[in-house]
Amino acid sequence: MGVIVVTGIPGVGKTTVMKKAAEGMDIEFVTFGTVMTEIAKEIGLVKDRDEMRKLTLGQQKDLQIKSAEKIARMENVILDTHCTVKTPKGYMPGLPEWVIKKLNPTAIVVVEASPEEIYNRRAGDPTRNRDPDTKEQIEEHQMINRAAAMSYATLSGATVKIVYNHDNAVDDAVKQTAPVLE
Ligand code: AMP
Ligand code: MG
Repeated sequence: MGVIVVTGIPGVGKTTVMKKAAEGMDIEFVTFGTVMTEIAKEIGLVKDRDEMRKLTLGQQKDLQIKSAEKIARMENVILDTHCTVKTPKGYMPGLPEWVIKKLNPTAIVVVEASPEEIYNRRAGDPTRNRDPDTKEQIEEHQMINRAAAMSYATLSGATVKIVYNHDNAVDDAVKQTAPVLE
C-alpha cells in the first residue's frame, strides 16, 4: 500500500473518517501536524499546534523537511496532513516538491464537505483555535486544495480521490475511501 496521504481543510473531519476507515487494518496512522508540532516544541518554537501556521515560512519549511524525513522511513502509513496551510502570507503548500518526492504517495485523498457544514463544525469545536473564515473563504480554500492535490499527483503519480464527508454521513465517507485502501 505504501503511503496514502489524506488531506482536508480544518474542521472537515478527515481524522474521524480516516481513523474509522483504517480500523482493523495493519496500517500506521500518522498526523503530519503532530510530528511537526513535537519537533517544534522540542526546540521551543510553539506551545500548541494552532501556533504552527503563524511561525515564519522559513521555520515552517524547516519543520516540514524534518517531519517528511522521519515519515519517509515508515511503511504502510496513512498520513493525515494538509494540501495547503493558510498562513498570514498566503497559502503554503503542505507537500512542496521536496516533501512529496520524499513521501512518494500512491494516493491522495481529499476530504470535503459543503462550506456551510465546515463553517458550523468549526463554530462548534471549542478544543481548537480555528481561523474565523467566512463561507466564501472556506470555499476558496477547498478550491485551492483541489488544484494543489493535482499538482502533487503530477510530481508523484499518485491518484487523487475526492471523498465527501457530509453531515451525519461518516459511514458513507468511509465507504468512498475503500478502493484506495485495498
Ligand atoms: P492539524 O492538527 O492536522 O491541522 O495540524 C496542525 C498544524 O500542523 C497545522 O495547522 C499546520 O500548521 C501544521 N501542518 C500540518 N501538516 C503540514 C504540512 N504538510 N506542511 C506544513 N504544515 C503542516
Ligand atoms: Mg485533524
